[in-house]
Amino acid sequence: MNPLLIFPGLPRFDAIQPEHVAPAIGQLIAENRSLIERLTAAETPATWKDFLAPMTDAGERLAYAWGIVGHLHSVNDVPAWREAYNAMLPEVSRFHAEIGQNLALFAKFKTLRESPEYALLTSAQRRIIDNDIRDFRLSGAELPDEQKPRFQEIQEELAALSAKFSENLLDATNAYGEWIEDESLLTGIPKDACQAAREAAEKDGKPGWKFTLHAPSYLPLMQYAANRDLRARMYRAYATRAAEFGKPKWDNSPLIDRLLRLRAEEARMLGYATFAEVSLVPKMAESPAQVAAFLREMAAKARPFAEKDVAELRAFASSELSLGDDASGLESWDIAYASEKLKLARYAFSDDEVKQYFPEPQVLAGLFRVIEALFGVRIETDIAPAWHPDVRFFRITREGKLIGQFYLDLYARETKRGGAWMDEAITRRKVADKHGESIQTPVAYLNCNFSGPVGNRPALFTHDDVITLFHECGHGLHHLLTQVDELAVSGIHGVEWDAVELPSQFMENFCWEWEVLQGMTRHVDSDEPLPRALFNKMLAAKNFQSGMQMLRQIEFSLFDLTLHHEFDPNANKSVLQLLDEIRREVAVIVPPEWNRFPHSFSHIFGGGYAAGYYSYKWAEVLSADVYEVFEENARTSGSVLDPVTGDKYWREILSVGGSRPALESFSAFRGREPRVDALLRHNGMIAS
Ligand SMILES: [Zn+2]
Repeated sequence: MNPLLIFPGLPRFDAIQPEHVAPAIGQLIAENRSLIERLTAAETPATWKDFLAPMTDAGERLAYAWGIVGHLHSVNDVPAWREAYNAMLPEVSRFHAEIGQNLALFAKFKTLRESPEYALLTSAQRRIIDNDIRDFRLSGAELPDEQKPRFQEIQEELAALSAKFSENLLDATNAYGEWIEDESLLTGIPKDACQAAREAAEKDGKPGWKFTLHAPSYLPLMQYAANRDLRARMYRAYATRAAEFGKPKWDNSPLIDRLLRLRAEEARMLGYATFAEVSLVPKMAESPAQVAAFLREMAAKARPFAEKDVAELRAFASSELSLGDDASGLESWDIAYASEKLKLARYAFSDDEVKQYFPEPQVLAGLFRVIEALFGVRIETDIAPAWHPDVRFFRITREGKLIGQFYLDLYARETKRGGAWMDEAITRRKVADKHGESIQTPVAYLNCNFSGPVGNRPALFTHDDVITLFHECGHGLHHLLTQVDELAVSGIHGVEWDAVELPSQFMENFCWEWEVLQGMTRHVDSDEPLPRALFNKMLAAKNFQSGMQMLRQIEFSLFDLTLHHEFDPNANKSVLQLLDEIRREVAVIVPPEWNRFPHSFSHIFGGGYAAGYYSYKWAEVLSADVYEVFEENARTSGSVLDPVTGDKYWREILSVGGSRPALESFSAFRGREPRVDALLRHNGMIAS
């Protein structure tokens, strides 16, 4: 038996091999295809039981098997797995595209939506049907036949333009190298960054050092290089990537123009005034006007703090670094450098110093204690086959009853994708079995890229690592603590995109609680807990330049929104002029006139964030506002780890997943609509 086809149950990581992929996935796709053909036939009744339930079951088996393959491709990216994954990826993508274009399927959904049965279904089931119909509509299924070819043409061109935008940016980024042979130019740059530059030069068979425009090379140079001309050169190269000054074939200007025109046309075809309106249909935010008002409110509140940040930076740069002595003295290529120096002067501590207090066993125990205290659950080691000896497996129980399980894969490996992420192996749902009905408990993958143990010392985590771990665990809890019975809105399924980071960012807050840190820190050599004085410095540094940073995010968000809502490519104004206007309204630091930020704004031109960049701030507001309830209740209960508030949070937010609108869940927990105050206070912009 092909182990990828064994379901239900935990993935058979001890048996699954790359050669199992093609036959298993091929078979599952074929099964799904023939099932859908049968389900869309006239004689199949458009009911939940006859139509949607079997389709969900078959889809789940494919998602389960392909999920394992995708996971192994991410955590064990050796040639055999990469090959097995890439060989089937086009098949799987084609199958999903087919479903989105299947009009007979769409018709069945509409019949079910209009049938008397609809009113008798649970609200979760109704939401699934509504979501599916919405997605069919947004992919053009309801257009008159004569408009469909044009709509399809637009989709294909948009996909090609986005891909080209990213390729141009990558090619332009790769094309630039800053060669240094005079060692004195390296002054200030950290050793490891120089070492990497040395290796990059060696790889090209050249002497000296090579710096590039990729973040691990560019950022430390801009932060630390004492040589101002070097910083200025690098900044100009970086800020003009894929612009009209470089190679014409990498110029993103015409692509930006074309993308905006096509998105506007697509929106009009779907019956919306602008692309921003289309983008917001499946999101929590209601309208572009609401998002714009939200961003402007945040901007107005952050502005005085940002102005103070800039004034302090200018004063420091002028008196301590001799970088100009008037307002124009500080250039864009001085900002990161001067900021780093100011930060060091103000809060003298290093990441390395903090790290000694966060050995892995303490951190994990501390994290689990937070979860156990908040939700009245127990987390214990469990046993299951895994993909690497370093992977651990845990179970969550409540009053002895199994709720969910998760894999924890903490350390970086050469064959592992970068970053940190949560993925689902199995989703909670009600399933029919030989006893009638039972609950399938959820399973999650939590993956990070932290440094592993060295010698016989435990792994030591930076405070940022700890925050990352809590963040991913927040996503994990959203998946694992759901109480929804229907697959398509269980856990993070069906949660609006601008609300999905609420549970993850929520968990980060605990990493800044003295109460929590006291119990989860112990110096690796001396066994001492984190000293209060060091914690106070960390806390002060947390909000360093938070006003400036917030305005920057708002500038990007407002530019993105306005571009997709008010901007008319046919009018006389250019994209750059629009950006100028936004900057005049929002920014406290205006980059040089030749800065071509839009040409590298791949979130909105090369990725899925068009008219959605605001989501970052939006979800941050939600999570801070939710966390404020824990802070308020701590005043009476004496602890942020309050089980009564935790239980309410579980009930109203985590347990319901995507089964109801995020705003409803939020309001049920908070007792009112979201407000920005808590986030501003957490960022030091309102006195606490
Ligand atoms: Zn996240």
